[in-house]
Amino acid sequence: MGAATVYQLAKASVKVAGIDRHHPPHTFGSSHGDTRITRLSVGEGAQYVPIVRNSHRIWRELEALSGESLFEQSGLLVLTSHDDFDPGDETDFTLRTIGLAQTYGIEHEVLDAAQIRQRFPQFAQVADSAIGYYEPGGGFVQPERCIEVQLRLAEQQGATLYKGETVTHISSDEHGVTVTTDQRTLQADKLVVSAGNWAGGLLGAPFDRLLKVYRQQLFWFELEPGAQLVGASPTFIFTHGLGEGQTNYGFPALPGEGSLKIATAQYHTSSTPETLDRTVSPAQEREMYEQQVQGRLCGVTAKVVKSAVCAYTVTPDHHFIIDQHPTLQHTLVVSPCSGHGFKHSAALGEAFAQWCIRGASELDLSSFSLTRFEGQ
Ligand SMILES: Cc1cc2nc3c(=O)[nH]c(=O)nc-3n(C[C@H](O)[C@H](O)[C@H](O)COP(=O)(O)OP(=O)(O)OC[C@H]3O[C@@H](n4cnc5c(N)ncnc54)[C@H](O)[C@@H]3O)c2cc1C
Repeated sequence: MGAATVYQLAKASVKVAGIDRHHPPHTFGSSHGDTRITRLSVGEGAQYVPIVRNSHRIWRELEALSGESLFEQSGLLVLTSHDDFDPGDETDFTLRTIGLAQTYGIEHEVLDAAQIRQRFPQFAQVADSAIGYYEPGGGFVQPERCIEVQLRLAEQQGATLYKGETVTHISSDEHGVTVTTDQRTLQADKLVVSAGNWAGGLLGAPFDRLLKVYRQQLFWFELEPGAQLVGASPTFIFTHGLGEGQTNYGFPALPGEGSLKIATAQYHTSSTPETLDRTVSPAQEREMYEQQVQGRLCGVTAKVVKSAVCAYTVTPDHHFIIDQHPTLQHTLVVSPCSGHGFKHSAALGEAFAQWCIRGASELDLSSFSLTRFEGQ
C-alpha cells in the first residue's frame, strides 16, 4: 500500500517521502510469497469490484512503463465441492462470486461437477453437487515485483525513500504532521499510515484493539514426475467443507518451477509482528499435505520444496479500514488487508494519493470507515 501510494504521489509531481522499517520488498510483513490472487468478481463484497478493476488497469500501465511482467491472467477457478454443500447457501463463496459476476457483467462461466472433472482433472473427488466459477481474466499478481517496480518508478519521479528506518512517533496540528523516526524528523502536509502488521503497535487505540495479526503459512509442493499441470492449472480457491480450514487456494504450476504453491488461512491463533514464528516445521508441512492436498489435488507430491510465513492484519468484520485518524489531523490510516488486499493495492495507492492532493478519492471508500466499529 505504501509503495503504491508513494508511486502515485510521485507520478502526480507531489513532493513525497516513503518510510519503511525494512527494505521493501521484504519478507517480514504481508506482501511476499511470489503470488497473490486477483479476480474481478470479488466474493468478499461488491464494494471491492471498482477497486480491483482500477488495479488491473494500473498493473498493465506499470508493466508498460517498466517492461516487467506483473499480472498473469492465468484464469481463476472458484470451486465448492463437498457433500454438505447446499446450493441455496448464500454464504458460500463460490455462489457469492457467481452472483457478483452476474450483477457486474464480469466475463465468467459457471461449471457443474461434470465440467469441472473434465476441464480440471487435477481436482480429485469432485462431489456430484459441486459448483465452479471460472473467470478467464482472473489470475495472479507478483507482489515483490509490483512493489519493486512502483518504488523504482517513484524514485525516478522524485520520491525520497527512507528504508531501514522506523517511525517512532507521529504528531499533528492545524498546519500538518510531524513524523519522528529513529533517524530524523520530517514535516508534511499529509500522512498516509500503511504499517500493516505493525499498525496497532504504532497507532495505539482504537487500532490496537481492532487489528489482529494472524500467522499464515505458504507451501510449494513438488510436482509428480510427468504431472500434466504446467500450462493446465488455473489460479484457484477451493472450498472442500464447511467452516474454517476447509478452504485452500493455489496458483498455477509455472514452467521451470516443478512445484505448485498452495495455502490455507487460519484465524484462531493471533500473534504480533515481534513474536511471530517465521519458520515452518516439518510437522506443519506434513499436516498441510494431509489436510489440504492429499486426496484433493492430483499431480502433487508430499515433498515441500519451499515454504514461507506471512501474516494477515485482520479487522473484526474482515473488511478493510481506510479512514482519517480519529485524533491525528491530516492523517489517513489504511489497513487494506484482512488477507485479501494485494489485488486492490495499486488502485488504493491511487485513491490515497487523491486524498492527499484534494482531500477525497474518486473511488467510494466509505464502507471502510472506522465508524462501523463504534462501540466495539
Ligand atoms: C499469506 C498471505 C496470502 C495473501 N493472499 C492474498 C491474495 O491472494 N490476494 C490478495 O489480494 N491479497 C492477499 N493477501 C493480502 C495482501 O497481501 C495484503 O493485504 C497486503 O500485502 C497488505 O499490504 P500492506 O502494505 O498493508 O502491508 P505490508 O506489505 O506488510 O506493509 C507494511 C509496511 O509497513 C512497514 N512498517 C511497519 N511499521 C513501521 C514503522 N513503525 N516505521 C516504518 N515502517 C513501518 C513494514 O516494514 C512494511 O513494509 C495475502 C496476505 C498473506 C499474508
